[in-house]
Amino acid sequence: MKEIQSNINIVGGGLIGAATAYSLSILGNKVVVLEHNDKFDQKKILDKRTTAISEGTKKFLEEINIWNEIGNYAEPIKEIQIIDRNQSNKIYFNNQRRNSNLGYIVKNKFILDCLYKKLQKQKNVEIYNNVSVKDIFYKGSRVVTKQKNFCVNTNILLASDGKNSTIRKIFKTPVYRKDYKKKAIVINFYHSKNHHNTAYEFFFKNGPLAILPMQKQNNEFQSSIVWTNTNKFINSLLSLDDDKIISILNQKIQGSIGEIKKILSKQTFPLKAHLNSRFFENRIIYLGDSAHSFHPIAGQGWNLGMQDVESLYNLVKKYNSLGLELGDEIFCKQFQKDNFFKAYRLYQITDKVDSIFKLDNTIINHARFSAINFIERAKKLKNRISDFAMGVN
Ligand SMILES: Cc1cc2nc3c(=O)[nH]c(=O)nc-3n(C[C@H](O)[C@H](O)[C@H](O)COP(=O)(O)OP(=O)(O)OC[C@H]3O[C@@H](n4cnc5c(N)ncnc54)[C@H](O)[C@@H]3O)c2cc1C
Repeated sequence: MKEIQSNINIVGGGLIGAATAYSLSILGNKVVVLEHNDKFDQKKILDKRTTAISEGTKKFLEEINIWNEIGNYAEPIKEIQIIDRNQSNKIYFNNQRRNSNLGYIVKNKFILDCLYKKLQKQKNVEIYNNVSVKDIFYKGSRVVTKQKNFCVNTNILLASDGKNSTIRKIFKTPVYRKDYKKKAIVINFYHSKNHHNTAYEFFFKNGPLAILPMQKQNNEFQSSIVWTNTNKFINSLLSLDDDKIISILNQKIQGSIGEIKKILSKQTFPLKAHLNSRFFENRIIYLGDSAHSFHPIAGQGWNLGMQDVESLYNLVKKYNSLGLELGDEIFCKQFQKDNFFKAYRLYQITDKVDSIFKLDNTIINHARFSAINFIERAKKLKNRISDFAMGVN
């Protein structure tokens, strides 16, 4: 059986695995990527979602020289409006203070496509598609993954195989989970009025509804809605024809971007969050959704995953410059130290914000109304919140 030797073996070539592969390959490491699906063909990318890329993530993408490509597909967010139930109770965030944008909306398929195009040009990267990793063992201080026709023998294995990580199951890494017993529906559509680069997040009793400004398509204004609601509601919404769905959505979005004209795509996602109790095993590191996933209320899952990627990039750079072998215990523990708390904090924040906005009785609603009014006027607090969302805190 053919045995491929590498420094780094990445299991899962999604948004995090591909970014990891590219960032570590430009440091000169030999990287192998094993991906379950066929990611090369754009038409086979089924994900219709967009990602709100934070300013912090953009800075790292600039550092590794890929923002030029991704930026071509990005629509900047210049203002965010947080609306509690209706337009009379809201907080505004804008980009004036830092003279930069609050974030960027890009279709996931474009991010992945840019990453794969860059990866294909890297001579020190080998990508194997249609490979599902199930068998892992150790050979001295090396980790080996065994497939049907070949093995990959490596210093360190990076598990970026998503929230249902097979690697995590194989190693029985303990995990805290939360099932919100809800779904998020993602709808991309054309609408009548300019969005003026404003993102909206409406908080309703059954969950938030975000409107994310996208680039124009076919000369039409385009946006994406991410709406969290009960499973029952989302299932019944999906059973309606598009005209009915449009009229329900038009009521919900309260004229913010005019009228919805045409639905382009609809996709649903179960709402579950998790946090691994540790982010490493012997010579194995969990990255992105294989380590953590969150309620999408703040659109921060990939951004936090990209912080894992950046921290790994810096650690590998240091080890490479000292001529040290990647993946020893000190390496793995340092990764855990740099990343676990950030994930724990985001897990708690997204969960608590969801709970606060869900509460619905006269006293609580009044208290929340006062709190929102207070935040809208408290400049320093508002700045701290927007820095956190921008990933520059
Ligand atoms: C509705 C919704 C909206 C969101 N919006 C945002 C947002 O605006 N901003 C943001 O930052 N985040 C957002 N997120 C979160 C973001 O989408 C995820 O954090 C991100 O996609 C995770 O990427 P990943 O590469 O870690 O995992 P995945 O995208 O799940 O990739 C895992 C990859 O591993 C492969 N794989 C799995 N098992 C194996 C195996 N055994 N062998 C080989 N390959 C395997 C899979 O085929 C897949 O390609 C959102 C999430 C949801 C649900």
